[in-house]
Amino acid sequence: MARTPLMAGNWKMNLTHVEAVGLVQKLAWTLSDKKHDSGRCEVVVLPPFTDIRSVQTLIEGDRLELGFGAQDLSPHDKGAYTGDVSAEMLAKLNCRYVTVGHSERRTYHAEDDALVNAKTKQALAHRITPIVCVGEGLDVRQAGNQVEYTLAQVRAALDGLSAEQAASVVIAYEPVWAIGTGEVATPADAQEVCGAIRGLLAEAFGADVADRVRILYGGSVKSNNVAQIMDQPDVDGCLVGGASLQIDEFSAIARFY
Ligand code: PEP
Repeated sequence: MARTPLMAGNWKMNLTHVEAVGLVQKLAWTLSDKKHDSGRCEVVVLPPFTDIRSVQTLIEGDRLELGFGAQDLSPHDKGAYTGDVSAEMLAKLNCRYVTVGHSERRTYHAEDDALVNAKTKQALAHRITPIVCVGEGLDVRQAGNQVEYTLAQVRAALDGLSAEQAASVVIAYEPVWAIGTGEVATPADAQEVCGAIRGLLAEAFGADVADRVRILYGGSVKSNNVAQIMDQPDVDGCLVGGASLQIDEFSAIARFY
């Protein structure tokens, strides 16, 4: 099955809603040239919560060929969870995606595998596609345990999902040592783990599910390394942090198709 490539821009905690509107307008304008075939690659932005309503209004109002989503969600439906944002709130804003278990959430907010699993299920229950982030730290990589470590995270994140639910998840392999460091994994490194993730999906949910799930690579993706990464058979797109804030860079990455 041909999987539609996905290029998702994780803005992290950057851009006010005014700046967000400016960036989305420029991005849409840059991508509207003939070099980008929107039918071949899905391009998505993941702004901070406070920007989502403005981004939604612009994208839907101007019928821009961009998707959008959020960077996190609460595992709870509603209630006394000060500062949290629920899946229902995101769904009402037509968020198509939400990142779950990003390494910055795991590190700075002590998110563990059980919480990542609960958030994944919560997103799916509201028809939002979770982009489940997994990946090893430098110590694990240096010990050569990156495959088993990352597969354990995938297993835990998808625990209890039906095959149909698993098929609609996106997984982002993001080695922690490559995030925001400028140190990109080699294409072979990316393929080794992404291929192993697909193997695990086949084992757990069947070959058809494994064939449908999109697996992204994330970690210092730039316009000058995206081609080699995307050349790998089990890499279906990229989760892009820093470079997604630079119009020229992100549009070149998205335009790669
Ligand atoms: C990310 O935030 O998920 C990421 C991969 O960041 P960067 O591209 O800056 O390494």
